[in-house]
Amino acid sequence: MSERERFLNHIGGAFVAPAGGAYLPVYEPATGAQYAEVAASNKRDVEGACQAAERASRGWRDASTEKRGAILDAIANKLEAQFEQFAQAESKDNGKPVSLARAVDIPRAVSNFRFFAGAIQHFASECHPTSADVLNYTLRAPLGVVGCISPWNLPLYLFTWKIAPALAAGNCVVAKPSEITPATATMFAQLCTEAGLPPGVLNVVHGTGPDVGEALCGHPSIKAVSFTGGTKTGARIASVAAPLFKKLSLELGGKNPVLVFDDADFDAAVATTLRSSFSNQGEICLCGSRVFVHDAIYDRFRDELVKRAKALRVGDPLEATTEQGALVSEQHHARVRGYLALAREEGSTILCGGEAVSPPGRCANGWFLSPAVIEGLPHSCRTSQEEIFGPVAALYRFKTEDEAVALANDTPYGLASVVWTRSLDRAHRVAANLHAGITWVNCWMVRDLRTPFGGVKQSGVGREGGWEALRFFTEPKNVCLKLS
Ligand code: NDP
Repeated sequence: MSERERFLNHIGGAFVAPAGGAYLPVYEPATGAQYAEVAASNKRDVEGACQAAERASRGWRDASTEKRGAILDAIANKLEAQFEQFAQAESKDNGKPVSLARAVDIPRAVSNFRFFAGAIQHFASECHPTSADVLNYTLRAPLGVVGCISPWNLPLYLFTWKIAPALAAGNCVVAKPSEITPATATMFAQLCTEAGLPPGVLNVVHGTGPDVGEALCGHPSIKAVSFTGGTKTGARIASVAAPLFKKLSLELGGKNPVLVFDDADFDAAVATTLRSSFSNQGEICLCGSRVFVHDAIYDRFRDELVKRAKALRVGDPLEATTEQGALVSEQHHARVRGYLALAREEGSTILCGGEAVSPPGRCANGWFLSPAVIEGLPHSCRTSQEEIFGPVAALYRFKTEDEAVALANDTPYGLASVVWTRSLDRAHRVAANLHAGITWVNCWMVRDLRTPFGGVKQSGVGREGGWEALRFFTEPKNVCLKLS
């Protein structure tokens, strides 16, 4: 590279260098080499972004829902037109197979904008006619300026999942993507300006969580924080924002159970469990990492899952046939391997995978790991309880439905869960008893953007999606009118 690419902040509709003039390296996980640098911003940049957002706030709030929707639609169209560029950038920045970025990340980012462009046209508030002469009606006003903080695993997908409802509802946004994967958020901010989003309505400030994220959460202009990331970070954000009485939506980690009963459609259960364990190298908060299999089919299921996990093609994310790309960073790669070493100490058998992989050619120094299936872990040990967030699936045997549900619920997390059974009664019963914000029955990652999305226990507070998101990004105000 002759001149290294630089990802700058996008404030007030233009690219802006960070106030302190500092930059952080950005790596391509597939090669392990630095390919760009990103603004290492500080609270002065956050201040500038909040001021730009405040200036834009009145105009955007007062724009009709039709106008806001039209601009969101224009953004979706423009993103669709640059689909391949974004898919390539996402793959390079994150390490995911470009085929996955094409099939999931970028289409979903388009859908996020298209969906909320339409949803805001149908969003309504309540009216309570109390008596013949008293009417209560609820106004739902935008909050003003809001903060959106997103992680590195599905960079554009989760960035737009927050920004689209915030903008649709009439708020201005200051957003902080993960500094580990800043590429597509930077490209997207520019695309929004080109698509007609007024300057200052969306501002992107890059930098570390402690420097930028925390300054954002504590800034007096920011009325609400929508955060997706790890549970510890969520707790830190709450400790900054809650005493300032800001609205908070926290989408946090998971240790999701998959329950496979002996009456399940075996082939569908194995094929989908392979996906739910290893898609995006297991770096999806919804991935199933604890797989509970009924005793009667355990051995057959284990053997088939191991056979298919071994066959997954790990390699250059840009190759069409690659199924497993690189883990996002050297540090994360070491962390996942550390958990595999711990799993061995805790008594498990690693049935396959868990080895660093060095594909031939340009990716020889990339952060690749073969997908691991393990068994024999006690359920109370750390590897069974803590989120690994990598290509590691642990198998457990169960004999009764009650036992399976009790084990599934036995973690501090409660994000997603998956149930495989042909029994309608059992499906309803188990779905109702699992402590999770989402239960998929005989499927995984089938998404309808109208449905509430979020977790219970340490997986978060609040819900995203559909009306939930639009309600979060608006403030209800009741007007009680007495007729004379
Ligand atoms: P982190 O919690 O480390 O980071 C998430 C974002 O928060 C990043 O932009 C990060 O910045 C920022 N951040 C870090 N510290 C602070 C702070 N003190 N104040 C404000 N912001 C801060 O998560 P990861 O990026 O490592 O993502 C993986 C985690 O996200 C996993 O636990 C996963 O389960 C969870 N996740 C949850 C989802 C859900 O919907 N429930 C979906 C996807 C992921 P930076 O990294 O730049 O320092």
